[in-house]
Amino acid sequence: MSYAVKEIFLTLQGEGAHAGRAAVFCRFAGCNLWTGREQDRLEAVCKFCDTDFVGMDGTLGGRYANAEDLASAIAAQWEGPPEHCYTVLTGGEPLLQVDPALVDALHARGFTIAVETNGTVAAPPGLDWICVSPKADAPLKISRGSELKLVYPQAKARPERFAGLDFQHFFLQPINICTNFSGNCCQSNPNQNGTRNMVSLNSRLSCLTLLNSRQLLEFSVKLLNLTTQGTHILRPSCRILSQVVRHDPIRAAGRNLYPE
Ligand code: SF4
Repeated sequence: MSYAVKEIFLTLQGEGAHAGRAAVFCRFAGCNLWTGREQDRLEAVCKFCDTDFVGMDGTLGGRYANAEDLASAIAAQWEGPPEHCYTVLTGGEPLLQVDPALVDALHARGFTIAVETNGTVAAPPGLDWICVSPKADAPLKISRGSELKLVYPQAKARPERFAGLDFQHFFLQPINICTNFSGNCCQSNPNQNGTRNMVSLNSRLSCLTLLNSRQLLEFSVKLLNLTTQGTHILRPSCRILSQVVRHDPIRAAGRNLYPE
């Protein structure tokens, strides 16, 4: 099958358990929860999207004729050590297109494959890391995986709803880094480093806003200089960070680009 791709680029993962890790992002075009057109937003299942996943006009975007061609395009962007090849398949909704042929082609090139999905489409076998980000009341077809990353707040997606699912990591992510979210949720629990952990909403949904890379956190906050009400926004959106470091991602953050 062919693949409709919005863009492909080398960057740092800015979110979740692998924050700070170098990765080739492949953003697939299209999503099943929103058309991507502003006139449809109010009627969409997912209304807060800030990602441009429409069309194939981004960097290295286009229609790739087969899995080999797409995997080769992704591999050509990697600049790190071969043993750390890492790709994040995102969207849009990547699982509308990711299939066993692409998984095999990327594995054949040495890649560890992560996917960021809204969880409403079944995943092909062989993915190495599955991050599910539930949206509104869209029913999940993926109820187990590596991390569950809930954009918060969402009126129809309360954290408690997902606490019993079988994921290794649970994260909350501010719905908008410029909102008062961190002020509402974090101020009662400052930690000894002067940053603030979000209040744990229940025993399993511990809201780990501290990046696993301290260096990336300091780098990000310094670089973006984002504060609200005196509270640092601890995790810039991947998109913003990607834009900032896209020109020189390897040297920009210095360390912790690859797993231990
Ligand atoms: S599910 Fe993800 S890509 Fe689709 S509209 Fe929502 S935020 Fe955007």
